[in-house]
Amino acid sequence: MVVFATGVTSNPMLASGYASCVAAPLVGPEGAVQGVLSVYCRAPRAWREEEIEALAAFAGNASAALSSAELYQSVALQQERSVAILSNIADGIVAVDRDGKVVLWNSAAERITGVPGEEAQGRPPAEVLQRELESGEEAPAGERLVSLRRGGEEIWLSLTEAVMRDPAGAVAGRIFAFRDISAERVVEEMKSEFVSNVSRELRSPLTSIYGFAETLLRGDVEFGEEERGTFLGYIASEAGRLTAIVDRLLAVAQLDSGDLQVQVAPTDVGELVSEVVAAAKQSLVLDGHEFVLDLPPEPLAADADREKLRQIVTDLVENAVRYSPGGGTVTVSARRRDDSVEVSVQDEGIGIPQAEQGRIFAKFYRAETGRRELAGGGTGLGLFIAKELLAAMRGRIWVRSLEGDGSTFSFSLPLAARPVLSERE
Ligand code: ADP
Repeated sequence: MVVFATGVTSNPMLASGYASCVAAPLVGPEGAVQGVLSVYCRAPRAWREEEIEALAAFAGNASAALSSAELYQSVALQQERSVAILSNIADGIVAVDRDGKVVLWNSAAERITGVPGEEAQGRPPAEVLQRELESGEEAPAGERLVSLRRGGEEIWLSLTEAVMRDPAGAVAGRIFAFRDISAERVVEEMKSEFVSNVSRELRSPLTSIYGFAETLLRGDVEFGEEERGTFLGYIASEAGRLTAIVDRLLAVAQLDSGDLQVQVAPTDVGELVSEVVAAAKQSLVLDGHEFVLDLPPEPLAADADREKLRQIVTDLVENAVRYSPGGGTVTVSARRRDDSVEVSVQDEGIGIPQAEQGRIFAKFYRAETGRRELAGGGTGLGLFIAKELLAAMRGRIWVRSLEGDGSTFSFSLPLAARPVLSERE
């Protein structure tokens, strides 16, 4: 539509001295008028047909350009928004174009894979990660587990993949979203290994108890007093093993629920350590192991829960024997250090690699060396319980070890304010 006007004074251009005008509307995408394109002339004149047509065509082009600019602006805004969302999202997001080259590598992807975005841009993920992300399927469904190497460590990703298609239906790109689930996987693995270890640990004393009891019950064999005593002794000691395992499990449950109580009183640590070593000599299956006690002559009074402390030292001594399959000397020492009492259990066994020394105090954790070299079970709970019990008694525990060259576990407890009257005195 083109409008002519002459002498219309509400139009400021005409009011300011222009005498004639021709105008064409600028029509938006939905038919709405977005503006008017006007041409003015100082002299009154009639507008020729081709002038009007040219103006109408020009207005049409200008409308289209305006619409495109608006559309472009809204797409740019949308894209900015998407980039902001993708870069702040906790999941790693990687997009590849139709040639399989990276066009988007968000900051979570940088963090998870350890590869900076600039290094990944324009290259196929397989080249960047030494691992294909693509499933190769036309319509990949659900989550997949993918392992990658990040520096020296192996990490596990839970990955989903979406295929983008152009209007003709051809693959125009792919988007991968992934989370690092390595920690969950390790916990899962530790849990299931724990369940199988505990079952095995419970099963072997149960089997012995069952076997000896069955033997004693046999009606066809007459056992002498001595034999009966030996069998019953085994039954009692195996039942003791069972109790110790169940006690550990209970202790962990109590630690988890915050119900574990310690009764702290001045305790002679030297005396307790001697008792534990004497009991260990009786009860442990020793294979060329020797014990050395290194204690000061005077009592060493620490503020501790006597039974919990017994449990801790027993566990450390048992570990010292268990993780020294070739035998060797186990040295248990205790001494006063300023305002604390320090106890050490030293062995000449398999040792613990540096990288694992910080982790062995974690719940369920069992070092690779122990699992590799010893077939015997273990629950990965002893050191965790020791650490927690000591913390409850205001003490702490640490280890010094060299792989293949023995370990020394030490702990300290606060020196008791008042002395203990030791039974040794
Ligand atoms: P468990 O002995 O039942 O596996 P612990 O919590 O007592 O559980 O010990 C955790 C891990 O620490 C063990 O699996 C073992 O790998 C390592 N460890 C503990 N004590 C020693 C030791 N004296 N020498 C070598 N490794 C040890």
